[in-house]
Amino acid sequence: MNHNCSSREEATVGVGRELHDFAARLYPICRSITGEGLRQTLRFIQEHLPLQLHEVTTGTQVFDWTIPKEWNIRDAFIKDSTGRRVVDFQKCNLHVLSYSSPVSGKMSLSELRPHLHTIPAHPEWIPYRTSYYKEDWGFCLSHEQLLSLPEGEYEVRIDSQLTNGSLTYGECFLAGKSSDEILVSCHACHPSLANDNLSGLTVATALAAEIASRKGSHRYSYRFLFLPGTIGAITWLARNRESTERIKYGLVLTCIGDKGAFHYKKSRRGDTEIDRAAAHVLALLSRDSQVLEFSPYGYDERQYCSPGFNLAVGCLMRSVWGSFPEYHTSADNLDFIKPDSLAQSLEVCSRILEVLENNRLYRNLQPYCEPQLGRRGLYRSTGGEFIAEEISARLWVLNLSDGNHSLLDIADRAHIPFRRILEAARLLEENQLLERVSEHRMAVAEEEIADKKLATDQ
Ligand SMILES: [Zn+2]
Repeated sequence: MNHNCSSREEATVGVGRELHDFAARLYPICRSITGEGLRQTLRFIQEHLPLQLHEVTTGTQVFDWTIPKEWNIRDAFIKDSTGRRVVDFQKCNLHVLSYSSPVSGKMSLSELRPHLHTIPAHPEWIPYRTSYYKEDWGFCLSHEQLLSLPEGEYEVRIDSQLTNGSLTYGECFLAGKSSDEILVSCHACHPSLANDNLSGLTVATALAAEIASRKGSHRYSYRFLFLPGTIGAITWLARNRESTERIKYGLVLTCIGDKGAFHYKKSRRGDTEIDRAAAHVLALLSRDSQVLEFSPYGYDERQYCSPGFNLAVGCLMRSVWGSFPEYHTSADNLDFIKPDSLAQSLEVCSRILEVLENNRLYRNLQPYCEPQLGRRGLYRSTGGEFIAEEISARLWVLNLSDGNHSLLDIADRAHIPFRRILEAARLLEENQLLERVSEHRMAVAEEEIADKKLATDQ
């Protein structure tokens, strides 16, 4: 095996392990749509990113919704007649119905039964259940555990609080050359569930850290949101209604740590540049990856793509939520997400952003017949049957660069990875065979000013 290849594989293994370790640190925390678990999670992310924490008071109206009371929990259990904890929140935070109101008392198994949730089809797993907007209490346990409970009296305790407080979300803004923004959003409201919430948080944090290290040399500005699902996105949109005009593209990241093939769910508009960029990257990655049409259910793309906003925001997943049996159960644990999968997901996100960052229009400066590439050292020196992909990329770029085809258009039409097409365009530009066309004059002018500023700052 060649040296470059093996060192690259080692690097990927290293990245994967780091990402998995990051998820493992967040795994034990009891998160919900409000409360200390959510704050603790955001503070941990804050150690890696310039993340601003926002608090929005209980009762605040956000469009058609109201910020709920803040939920916090210290302990919960069901004890049998001998005083033994047969269901124990300290062992697994999924045991409590999220947002349970406090409860304390003794009751028979039949009185307790309506408050117990199990999954008979997977008798060893504990389900994840919530009751955010209707006051209720309950426990979740494995079906096996339920069947093992004898009739008799049980001591039941949920030491939780529902109080006036606030909803917390985290926001990290990384200014680029242009004020046009790319939004990356993920939910941070699930307790010990790895693929569904931690994989998104983990990859988004790593992606943001990577962009932050470029110190503003990127084309777009980036806004990363870590928020409670649904109510968090609605809250952010309600408080930032005007500035959503700057969001050119966006990506919701969720369920991207498992071994499943990639799925990209298109934005409501369906034909935007991010939809095309994601489809391009996934098509070249594997034949199993799929592009899905938009639907008004799923994650926070529902809010970003609601008709009033209609933003170009898609959703990147591996296995689609709800389609894998581990979804919303204790089996969505740290073994279910894999270091390799997390590393590859990060790579896919970077590739999609690479397309958006570099997709531009060019014009061939020698459009009358092919320029002589060999004379410039841009063609193979001896004639033969096979045209290498890099040469092919140069020919495609020259042929389609008429000011109307973007590099992504060319990559799609040529079935050549965008990165190769970009390399070809750069090389041809260096050789004065190509020039960039200012498709959006204002945006280009803004970028050029930022370029000059970066150059003088350095
Ligand atoms: Zn979920």
